[in-house]
Amino acid sequence: MLTQMQYDEIMRGYERKRMISRHRAEDAARTVREKIPAYRDIENKITDLAMECAAKVFDGDAGAVARMREEIENLSQQQKKLLADNGFAEDYLEEKHECPICNDTGYTKDGRRCDCLRRELLRVAYHQSNIEEILERENFGTLTYDYYTDSEREKMKGIIDKCREFADNFGSRYENILLYGNVGVGKTFLTNCMAKEILDKGYSVVYFTSMRMFDTLSQEMFGQDEERSWGWQKDIFTCDLLIIDDLGTESVSSFVASRLFDILNERDLRRKSTIISTNLAFGDLGKRYSERNFSRIFGNYTILHPDVEDIRVKRKRSAR
Ligand SMILES: [Zn+2]
Repeated sequence: MLTQMQYDEIMRGYERKRMISRHRAEDAARTVREKIPAYRDIENKITDLAMECAAKVFDGDAGAVARMREEIENLSQQQKKLLADNGFAEDYLEEKHECPICNDTGYTKDGRRCDCLRRELLRVAYHQSNIEEILERENFGTLTYDYYTDSEREKMKGIIDKCREFADNFGSRYENILLYGNVGVGKTFLTNCMAKEILDKGYSVVYFTSMRMFDTLSQEMFGQDEERSWGWQKDIFTCDLLIIDDLGTESVSSFVASRLFDILNERDLRRKSTIISTNLAFGDLGKRYSERNFSRIFGNYTILHPDVEDIRVKRKRSAR
């Protein structure tokens, strides 16, 4: 079910976590050495002791190791006291892992998969199968007008035609779509219809909810691991079709606003299509992600606004 590549990516995630905690611990040690010279002096003393001890053992002094251990124990007690006296927490210098069971390795001491790894594998597998299953159910073939009133049907027909056209012309015509409207008017359904058609033609399609996309990007970005950042970031910028679902549900920050601009701008330069769906009113998008960037970018989008009643409510009503 899971490809080797996906497995490798998960393992790289663990590596990255361990690297971050190692760096943090190194930074902490540096801080302590700077702030408490006496602490650093003891550290040096311990190194000297170990060297001396090695020499004594070499000369046949069998009791040297035991004596050194005692001395080092004394010295580390002094270090602990120095830390506390200077207001540092007891575990300040320790590496801190997200998962204390496997120390962010994915495997327990006896070589079994840790629960945190199992959860992660399931999440990836579920996400994949889930999307495939949804697309079997939600496509142009299963689309129905049954839940719309007469006037709504007219409106929706125009929008659905546009979506169909987008999918039909994909690859020969560069186009982007922004779908905006309230929850439950069928935006995700329409997006799925287009995705299915375009996937079936063999194009690369990347689907993200807005929240997960920015989470993934910030993890890759602040992980500072070169090897890891080839992952999603590259796909988000270069895939044939990027779908950003539910834009506006992520917590907005300067990172999000500037990343969103980078993504849409770069894709526009490469003439790679993007579909965005959002519950935000059209005017609110500009306010949220900085007006200037917004108007230039969305100038290249076909704006679709399914302005109808919540069809999920109607579906439930008719199911009764
Ligand atoms: Zn674990």
